[in-house]
Amino acid sequence: MEIACLDLEGVLFGEIWINFAERTGIEILKLTTRDIPDYDVLMRQRISILKENRLGLPDIQAVINQMEPLDGAKEFIAWLRKRYQVAILSDTFYEFATPLMEKLDYPMLICHHLTVDSNNMVTDYALRQRDSKREAVKAFKQLNYRVIATGDSYNDTTMLSEAHVGILYCPPDNVIAEFPQFPVTRNYDQLREAFLKTQSSLDFGF
Ligand SMILES: [Mg+2]
Repeated sequence: MEIACLDLEGVLFGEIWINFAERTGIEILKLTTRDIPDYDVLMRQRISILKENRLGLPDIQAVINQMEPLDGAKEFIAWLRKRYQVAILSDTFYEFATPLMEKLDYPMLICHHLTVDSNNMVTDYALRQRDSKREAVKAFKQLNYRVIATGDSYNDTTMLSEAHVGILYCPPDNVIAEFPQFPVTRNYDQLREAFLKTQSSLDFGF
């Protein structure tokens, strides 16, 4: 049996924080794990900027509710779910991503939680566990699943390494340069091809 593990932002949806930055005009909120590999540094910065600008969880959710899947993402995930068990492994938060799952017909989502005060201001975030994407892949392997993982960014690379097959999707050049071991796909047709290739490798006793 096989499980396909997909990153969310950059693979199926655009970046939540970039959308929010564009809507609010706060440029520094455009930085993502593509720019700052240390997730904790990035999140602390985001939380303090939200506080400075008096923006709360409902302000972010209002932007997220208007986000639509990337062109072709819905069809891609429907195609994938006919062939694999599918889990979305994301470093986002349930408070953000739940409305997005509705637009993908509710695949399994493994991510983190935000801490919010009584005024709906984001005060902290709670990682369910460290290196969560990789730990999820490890756990699936322990259950005797073969795992194929796809992501676009730094925070996906440990998941891609842990998986039986790791595939990059529309990665930035610096990730391609640092992780040349992973095949690069740039649209859903190429990603379908890459998945099909991993299936045919089963015939050779993979
Ligand atoms: Mg991503």
